[in-house]
Amino acid sequence: MSKIVCVLYDDPVDGYPTSYIRDSIPRLERYPDGQTMPSPGAIDFKPGQLLGSVSGELGLRKFLVGQGHKFVVTSDKDGPASIFERELIDADVVISQPFWPAYLTKERIAKAKNLKLAITAGIGSDHVDLQAAMDKGITVAEVTYCNSISVSEHIVMMILALVRNYIPSYQWVVKGGWNIADCVARSYDLEGMQVGTVGAGRIGLAALKRLKAFDVKLHYTERHRLSREIEKDLGLTYHDSVESMLRICDVVTINTPLHPETEHLFNEAMIAKMKRGAYLINTARGKICDENAVARSLRSGHLAGYAGDVWFPQPPDKDHPWRSMPNHGMTPHISGTSLSAQARYAAGVREILECWFAKKPIRSEYLIVENGNLAGTGAHSYSAGNVTSGSEKVARYKKAAGA
Ligand code: NAD
Repeated sequence: MSKIVCVLYDDPVDGYPTSYIRDSIPRLERYPDGQTMPSPGAIDFKPGQLLGSVSGELGLRKFLVGQGHKFVVTSDKDGPASIFERELIDADVVISQPFWPAYLTKERIAKAKNLKLAITAGIGSDHVDLQAAMDKGITVAEVTYCNSISVSEHIVMMILALVRNYIPSYQWVVKGGWNIADCVARSYDLEGMQVGTVGAGRIGLAALKRLKAFDVKLHYTERHRLSREIEKDLGLTYHDSVESMLRICDVVTINTPLHPETEHLFNEAMIAKMKRGAYLINTARGKICDENAVARSLRSGHLAGYAGDVWFPQPPDKDHPWRSMPNHGMTPHISGTSLSAQARYAAGVREILECWFAKKPIRSEYLIVENGNLAGTGAHSYSAGNVTSGSEKVARYKKAAGA
């Protein structure tokens, strides 16, 4: 029997919901590229429920405990005195969500002598030291595609919010004003702008498809160039470097995983190559951008706006520069954890666990690391190495919150 430690975000401040604003969520048959939806033998939750918080338990308790496993769920993830670090010592499997990441650093992996499988309930396994996982023979798997479309919708929302100056205009209404000139002095149409994505995998491509409807000029840069058919269909201009794309684009969206090639890719020098008045949208990972360079570029007016939902580490300090910089549209990390997405990744985690316990192969698209190497989606989209350095700073948030 195994011990599974699962780290989830806290329940809502008013308690775990007893009802929801909608009665159901749409049932999807397949992902856009034909990949099948998560297909566990069964699920013990109703799609549309809050599953990603502690009381939701990803809907896994009945299944795991019913098979005799020990299942520990906690939100207390940071610092050496945390429940996570204590329970990790003899855990066989760790489950964590990128929204509230349980950083699996080399030091923590060294303490977790039984650890064999790290599952990301979502997409993006950069919170695991993938190099250490490879060195220790730990399998790392995530639920590829589960929230890619969720994020692409969020990207379109954030681009429009920044370009059309939605958030300050909304705030004028809340403040009781009718200050039209204040609202529109920073408001433009997206139509006709040059819009580019760094990375055109599942999220980047879905964002491009959605943006086509706005009659913009679309650009992308990618490790793996898309087919000429897709390029023609969407009217895409391919760039062989990020720099070449930045020179032209009014709006840039980042859609690569965080790995050694992309860590701090958007530093001072790279941002300086962007057009004055450009907008940068980052729903990929906070550490792809240099936090101070972003804040400075907004203060100087070089960037007109920055929006996203990803920070480093998470949760960020109360005085993180992105909370107070001008012209931003930041939220906590939420784009990939809508109730719709949760139903998919909870089912995907269960599918991975069912395969694991039955000693059946995990589908290759879910694999990031296996048998000491990057595998599946990991081999396609990541490069080897570790990007968790600095994650220990996260304990400062807990201290400041008095927890
Ligand atoms: P994906 O694997 O389908 O696509 C990633 C693409 O990035 C791949 O096509 C890969 O070739 C490309 N890439 C990697 N390194 C590159 C580089 N240096 N230059 C150019 N292209 C590069 O994954 P996806 O579903 O599109 O997700 C992408 C990332 O988005 C995830 O790894 C995760 O970090 C992030 N994400 C965030 C949320 C959220 O809630 N904010 C949710 C899901 C995913």
